[in-house]
Amino acid sequence: MNIALIAHDAKKELMVQFCIAYSGILSQHNLCATGTTGKLVAEATGLRIFRFLSGSQGGAQQIASRISYNEIDLLLFLRDPLTMKPNEPDDANLIRLCDVHSIPVATNIATAEALIHALEKGDLDWREIVNPKRI
Ligand code: PGA
Repeated sequence: MNIALIAHDAKKELMVQFCIAYSGILSQHNLCATGTTGKLVAEATGLRIFRFLSGSQGGAQQIASRISYNEIDLLLFLRDPLTMKPNEPDDANLIRLCDVHSIPVATNIATAEALIHALEKGDLDWREIVNPKRI
């Protein structure tokens, strides 16, 4: 499965801790992330992560385009709901596209935990059946 990771600044440490805790399951999948999130997670876990641009430079839009091409199976996007960000419209579009293409998406740690357990149990394997040919 192709899994995308994004964390706003206030949630980056949480994302790092999450990825350390679940590095076993995450290592069995293809990972990509926005620039800074990917760098921090890769450094902390040793996981191989394809890094797009930083969110402020268009990284979320790059991931959005992958979602439109059905190249992402799961998005873990730890958002900071308390701080306004200049690239907020990009983030909203990203979540909209997950809904358009029925991509499982977590926007907080509780849902991220639920989805990673579902992934571990094989509950998200339907993605492979729906769309077997992906990068
Ligand atoms: P970043 O992007 O991982 O490059 O910081 C995410 C964000 O928009 O905060």
